[in-house]
Amino acid sequence: MRNWSGHVEFTAASVIEPSAISDLQSAVASSDRIRAVGTMHSFNDLADTDGIHVSVAGLPPLIEIDADQRIARVPAGLRYGEAARLLDDQGWALHNMASLGHISVAGTIATGTHGSGDHNPTLSAAVHGLDLVTATGDVVRVTRADDPDRFPGCVVSLGAIGVVTSVDLAIQPAFDVRQYVFDDVSHEALLSDFDATFSSAYSVSFFTCWAPDLVGQVWMKRRVDTDGEWTQPGILDGTLADGKRHPLPGHDAVHCTEQSGITGSWHERLPHFRLDFTPSSGDELQTEYLVPRDRAVELLRDLESLAPRIHALLHVSEIRTMCADDLWLSGASGRDTVGIHFTWQRRPEVLGILAELDVLFADRGGRPHWGKLYDASPASIRSRYPRFDDFADLADRMDPTGKFRNRTLDALLAAG
Ligand SMILES: Cc1cc2nc3c(=O)[nH]c(=O)nc-3n(C[C@H](O)[C@H](O)[C@H](O)COP(=O)(O)OP(=O)(O)OC[C@H]3O[C@@H](n4cnc5c(N)ncnc54)[C@H](O)[C@@H]3O)c2cc1C
Repeated sequence: MRNWSGHVEFTAASVIEPSAISDLQSAVASSDRIRAVGTMHSFNDLADTDGIHVSVAGLPPLIEIDADQRIARVPAGLRYGEAARLLDDQGWALHNMASLGHISVAGTIATGTHGSGDHNPTLSAAVHGLDLVTATGDVVRVTRADDPDRFPGCVVSLGAIGVVTSVDLAIQPAFDVRQYVFDDVSHEALLSDFDATFSSAYSVSFFTCWAPDLVGQVWMKRRVDTDGEWTQPGILDGTLADGKRHPLPGHDAVHCTEQSGITGSWHERLPHFRLDFTPSSGDELQTEYLVPRDRAVELLRDLESLAPRIHALLHVSEIRTMCADDLWLSGASGRDTVGIHFTWQRRPEVLGILAELDVLFADRGGRPHWGKLYDASPASIRSRYPRFDDFADLADRMDPTGKFRNRTLDALLAAG
């Protein structure tokens, strides 16, 4: 079995997909080594195990909504985009989405997955509580309100503390969004006016190929209720696109959500890619660093020295913003953050640039996305999270025999 992009071959002996919580409890209790897996969209072997894989996609797909508390209990195995559709059908919305809706709710929150927006935290930060099957096979509910000592370690958990079966997510009344794309925005203009550009709408992304001309695209997603229409012919030194765009050059824009300011529901505009189509390229690898917002412009300027080498290996880069959260292993933990992302061509040479990139990012407090490719020592990764020791204690307490661990977690947890 391989991950979505096909370059990681999992070593798991088998995958089970229980259709009842009781079957999941028995499977976890009786296994020495078992690990939850979502839709396998991660680009590294974080989801792998030398035991068996367990997927919660077969559990009943029932969504429960508490309208007074504005919380939805969502099955962890549902794809995020499917959960979004079901919520929208009932008049509700989530605060944000990633570029795609194809990933599972549990996998999304376990790795600190995010979209963009100065006032939008990661998707993990929308979690109020979760149900999980722990190493003993017991069902445990952990909530922000009742478990303040461990909750911040239980959301971005890398699968280390149990198998999550349902997630309580913050919801709000459904809203509409208009998406606009602007071509030919220069790096220079963006970096000179970084804050104003990213604060110009609910969600803003900048795409660049690091080509010699150093120009890219701004993708702007405006909430109809709060942002209004964009009436100018361009942004910075760029102009409104004269047709629909795909962020990866040469790819068919039919895969993308509607642009050109056409009003649509939040879940059909906040992701870049439509749920029923292949997202991105498929023939790719990905890397992303989450960097403190106040170091981002300086870092992007430094990256220009590597532009020719990055460009030669790249499909496209995406720059996004998010606000701080309090989750111990979130890339945005404790600081407003900028995500600097690379969608690489699927070529072995990519692995050769990762260590060099890590040095550049680590110097500015950059944390690699847990679900993407990076080259850094476990001790170095650990040092980038002030609460990693607390997470390691939590993982030891909740899984004393290490049945949920794998090679990556063993190395991280032993590096203290
Ligand atoms: C085309 C593409 C676009 C992407 N765009 C974005 C983006 O916009 N923003 C972003 O931040 N990331 C993005 N990603 C990365 C992606 O969001 C993460 O890799 C995410 O973790 C994938 O979810 P998954 O369900 O495939 O999880 P998997 O890869 O299957 O697993 C990831 C982790 O979650 C854990 N896990 C899964 N299910 C459970 C469970 N039930 N209980 C406990 N732990 C569990 C696994 O053990 C593993 O540690 C993108 C990836 C792709 C392929």
